[in-house]
Amino acid sequence: MTSVNTIVEVLKRLETLYRPKVEDYIALNLLKPSVSDFEFLVGVILSQNTSDKNALKSLNALRNGLGGILNPDSILSTPLEKLESLIKSAGLAKRRTKTLIALANWFKENNEVIQKLRELEPKEIRELLTKIYGIGLKTADVYILMKLNKPTFPIDTHIRRILSRLGIFSTTDGYEYISSVVVSIFNNNIDSLKKLHILLIEHGRKVCKAKKPLCTQCLLNDLCHYYTAVKQGSQ
Ligand code: SF4
Repeated sequence: MTSVNTIVEVLKRLETLYRPKVEDYIALNLLKPSVSDFEFLVGVILSQNTSDKNALKSLNALRNGLGGILNPDSILSTPLEKLESLIKSAGLAKRRTKTLIALANWFKENNEVIQKLRELEPKEIRELLTKIYGIGLKTADVYILMKLNKPTFPIDTHIRRILSRLGIFSTTDGYEYISSVVVSIFNNNIDSLKKLHILLIEHGRKVCKAKKPLCTQCLLNDLCHYYTAVKQGSQ
């Protein structure tokens, strides 16, 4: 099976297996129309290097601590120490607070760009966002795909691990290469890209864990290079 066919088959099988819960994924949880772009990005920043549950807890604490109004002004008018304390349950509070302030300043200073953001190509939006302190490719891509409904493919550690174990990509392939290949395989189909993103994370959390993957229970094991190597005793 070619890599193209494998990844399409992976999505097909994972769709039959999982029904991800909104409360387990911050990017799904924040897809309500009432959530602003700024708030969505704050949520994704809070989820960097921590669980989505911790991120949601932090986001709620932040929103409540700011009197229910989470926007650039409320962030910029709050003392640094208070912000750090409100988001502490997500960890890395000092670094994250610096990112939230940088994001708030960017929103305040780039009103015209923000109004036209939806007209830009994913690559252009990525370039703008990744200039902000603490915002990397994955954070930008989660926002571009999930909130702006534009074709890109955000890759986290679960996704990278599974795609390399399956043999679809190598461990040395770069983020932008993997992301652009996946987007082209799914022919810019937003729905498929969103599903693949969430379902691979679900599979990484539940089955294809970093340590001791549950290969014998995995419904992808007949497609998987890692499992073939394990069976042959070479891994
Ligand atoms: S067979 Fe094992 S390594 Fe391969 S995808 Fe499944 S859990 Fe991961």
